[in-house]
Order: sequence, then C-alpha cells, then structure tokens
Amino acid sequence: MPLYLVQHTHTAESCPTKNPEMVRQLSSHVTQSNASKYGVKILADWVYEPEHTVILVLEADSPEKATNFVLPFLNVGSITIRAGATCEDVAKMCLGK
Ligand SMILES: [Zn+2]
Repeated sequence: MPLYLVQHTHTAESCPTKNPEMVRQLSSHVTQSNASKYGVKILADWVYEPEHTVILVLEADSPEKATNFVLPFLNVGSITIRAGATCEDVAKMCLGK
C-alpha cells in the first residue's frame, strides 16, 4: 500500500498549543481510531514543537484519503504530502519479485 509523508509547519503565532481547544481537536484527530474512519493507517507521528513541525507517515490506498485526513492542519499552517514506499517494496520492485 502506498505511503505518504506529510509535513506540517505553523508559525509561533498560529501555534495550536496556545489554544487548549485546538490541542484537544488535533490530538483527538491524530489517533488511529479516528484515522481508520478516513481509511488511513498512522505509521509515524512525530512532532518537534521548537520548530513547530509535525511529520506523519501514513498508509492509504489513495492520495485523496491521506490528504483528507490531514486537512485540519491547514487551519493553522501549511502541509506538504509526498508519496513513497518502504525499502522492502522498492527492493521487491527492483528484484522483480
Ligand atoms: Zn507549534
């Protein structure tokens, strides 16, 4: 299944940690039980608040599903989404197995 690398950044001014309600919304959004409703599996969930950066690695069968899931982050900043694969998948393709 395709993997998607999602990078989200926001400014110190728009940081959701300033707003407890927004923290609650985003933290309840980024859970596997919620992601499953979007047809998405969360493989990695990494946040580095000093740089206001969130990295998610998602598995989904279409880019639309991955995009729909991360749309709430657009309310506070930007998102970029890149499609990719695992080392194992690439090796299988190369070796024709
Ligand atoms: Zn922040």
